[in-house]
Amino acid sequence: MNSRRTRIYEGKAKILYEGPEPGTVIVHFKDDATAFNAEKKAVIEGKGVLNQRISEYLFSRLNEIGIPTHFIRSLNMREQLVREVEIIPLEVVVRNIAAGSLAKKLGLEEGHVLPRSIIEFYYKNDALGDPMVSEEHITSFGWATPMELDDMMHMAIRINDFMTGLFLGIGIKLVDFKIEFGRLFENDMMRIVLADEISPDSCRLWDTKTLDKMDKDRFRRDMGGLVEAYHEVARRLGIIQPNEQPERSKPKLVKTD
Ligand code: UDP
Repeated sequence: MNSRRTRIYEGKAKILYEGPEPGTVIVHFKDDATAFNAEKKAVIEGKGVLNQRISEYLFSRLNEIGIPTHFIRSLNMREQLVREVEIIPLEVVVRNIAAGSLAKKLGLEEGHVLPRSIIEFYYKNDALGDPMVSEEHITSFGWATPMELDDMMHMAIRINDFMTGLFLGIGIKLVDFKIEFGRLFENDMMRIVLADEISPDSCRLWDTKTLDKMDKDRFRRDMGGLVEAYHEVARRLGIIQPNEQPERSKPKLVKTD
């Protein structure tokens, strides 16, 4: 089915194909999982579909509150049509509760509520292991201008406020998340839009009552039950019907004769 498409790029969890019109791209969500700068790898059947559906939902809701995004529409369960953007080489991490690398670096207990939300920047560079960088590094090396940084920080705070409330309403704590932005060129104009994805692969989500992890830490820490946890996030968001089962199997060939 995909044989006639032109592949632009294959990343760790997604494949990008040329879109049907200039300035569009098709994003295919793979079932591949990686962690620790791709040192740990696995294929987790059903993960790509859940991430596509959760990301579609969150990008649509964010669009409704005025956050510009690259998202146009979903094409099927695993693929979406997006606007072609020039990705800014930064991972923008927003944290509400100490976990992961921050807890380790500063010797904080996981679960420690931060005095206020914190924004961090990491330079997207696999060979360097995505080092943390400051605003000074970003502007002096020209990865983003001071105005672009300002835009990204404003959007990151709005996204955090909105998603914190959205998840709290369904019994989930938004511990932290990573987002990426891109430059969208339209006529002679350029603006910064939210790009990539927002899914349990890029967020830390804890059940409010049990503190159960409902995110990629289940894979990082070999806890199992990843698809079930992502499915539960989708179910609580109302994306998946209560009786819908996690999609585990790949499409099968149906014999017609
Ligand atoms: N994150 C991500 N991609 C990365 C690094 C981090 O999506 O390459 C997300 C991660 O899932 C978490 C947040 O960003 O929700 C903060 O991650 P952290 O810095 O604690 O790094 P980790 O512990 O994942 O190495």
